[in-house]
Amino acid sequence: MADGMMSVEEALERILAQVDILSTAEVSLADALDRVLAEDIDAPFDIPQVANSGMDGYAVRAEDIRNASAHSPVVLPITGQIAAGYVAEGALAPGATMRIMTGAPIPEGADTVVPFEETDELDRRRGGPARPAGGLASGLREIGVRVALPRGVNVRPAGEDVRKGARVLRRGELLRAAHLGVLASLGKATVRVIRPAVVAILSTGDELREPGEPLGPGQIYNSNSYTLAALTRACGATPLVLPIARDNVEDLTAKIASGLDADLFITSAGVSTGEYDLVKDVLTRRGSMDFWRVRMRPGRPLAFGMLRRPDGSQVPHLGLPGNTVSTLITFDQFVRPAIFKMMGKPLIPHPTIHAVLEEPFQNRDGRRCFVRAVVEKRGERFYARLTGSQGSNILTSMVLANGLLVVPEDRARVEVGEEATVQLLEGYESLLFS
Ligand code: AMP
Ligand code: MG
Repeated sequence: MADGMMSVEEALERILAQVDILSTAEVSLADALDRVLAEDIDAPFDIPQVANSGMDGYAVRAEDIRNASAHSPVVLPITGQIAAGYVAEGALAPGATMRIMTGAPIPEGADTVVPFEETDELDRRRGGPARPAGGLASGLREIGVRVALPRGVNVRPAGEDVRKGARVLRRGELLRAAHLGVLASLGKATVRVIRPAVVAILSTGDELREPGEPLGPGQIYNSNSYTLAALTRACGATPLVLPIARDNVEDLTAKIASGLDADLFITSAGVSTGEYDLVKDVLTRRGSMDFWRVRMRPGRPLAFGMLRRPDGSQVPHLGLPGNTVSTLITFDQFVRPAIFKMMGKPLIPHPTIHAVLEEPFQNRDGRRCFVRAVVEKRGERFYARLTGSQGSNILTSMVLANGLLVVPEDRARVEVGEEATVQLLEGYESLLFS
C-alpha cells in the first residue's frame, strides 16, 4: 500500500472476513425460491407411493395377452375402471382387464398396461353402444388386445422416483423450481432456509430529491437508492430503502438509527473528501469505521466498518462512493459477495471472456480500471469497444455497457487488437452462447 491504496482483493477479503452467515427460517415453499436449504431432506415415503399406470389403457396380466396380435386380438372382459385419485374396488381377476388412466394405482393382480392404441377400443366405440351420459366408463363390456407385452410395461413401480428414507436434498443446496417441486411432492409445506438478508440503503446529500418531486436550483434526483435496491434484489436480498439523509449530524444520526435492524447497512456518498461530508464523523461515532482508498477506478473511496445497535450488537456497514457509476461497480465488487456469503450462496463470479479491443484505453494512475464496454460476438470471437466517456458520473454508460473491460493496475495502456479481459455484466451472460 505504498500509495496509501488497498487492492480490490484485500478490500474484499477484509469485508468478507467480517460478515457472517445469517440465521435460518422456516418459510413456505412459495417463498423458498433461490434460498439456500438449511436442512437435509430425507424422503418420508416412496414416490410414487404405489405402482401406477404410465398410460391411459387397460390393466392386464401379461400372461393373459401373451398370444395377442393384430390378427387375433385377445378379448378380455372389462371388470372396472380406475381414474387417477381412485383405487380399484377389488383385485383383477385372471383373464379380465380394468380400464385405467395415467397415474391411477395398478389394481392387485395386474402387472402390465396396454395403451388404448393397442386395443380395439376405438373401433368398438364407433360401432358399439353409446357412452352412458356423464359416465366415466367407455360403455364397453369387453376389449380386444392387439399386442403381447412383456410384464411390467407401462407400470411405474412404487419408489421409482424416490425411495423412502433416501436423502433427496442436502443442506446448502440452492432451491430452484425443481427442488421446490420435489419438496412439494414429499408433502412439505414449509422448508428451513437461510433467511434473506435485509439490506438498509441510505442515500446522503443535501442536493438530492426524490423522483416525482420538483427540483430546485443545484439539486439532482436521487438515483443511487434505486440502483442499489435493484442490485440488492438481484442478489435475492431484501432492500430496506431509507429516506434520504441530509448533510447534518442530526438527520444522518436519525436516519442511520432507523435502519439498524438490517443485516447489512449501505450508505451512498459522503465518503470522499468533500467539505460538507459529515458521513465520516457520524459513522465513526456510531461504530468503528475504516476509510479506505481502494486501487480501482471508478470507486476509489470506500468505507467499511460496523455500526452499533442500541442493544450492543453490530451491523456491518459499507459506505459506497456517491458517483452513480462508482455506486454500481463497488456494489458488484464488494456488496454482492458480502450478501452472497450472508445468504450461504456460492458466489458465482460474472463470466469473464477475452475480447479483441477495437479501441485503446489509457490507465492513467495505476489503478484497476473497470471500463464500460460493449461486447459483440462475431463468428467465434468477442470484440469490445468502449461506451464513450468513462466519467464515474456518466450513468447512461452503464445502460449501454454489457461488460466491464478489466485493465490491471500494472498496465498503463491496452492497445487496439489486444485480447483483454472483460467481465460480462449481470443479464448479459447469454452473449457466451450467441
Ligand atoms: P459525495 O460523495 O457526497 O461527494 O457525492 C459524489 C457525487 O455523487 C456528487 O456529485 C453527488 O451529487 C452524487 N450523488 C451522491 N448521492 C447520490 C444519489 N443518491 N444519487 C445520485 N447522485 C448522487
Ligand atoms: Mg454528498
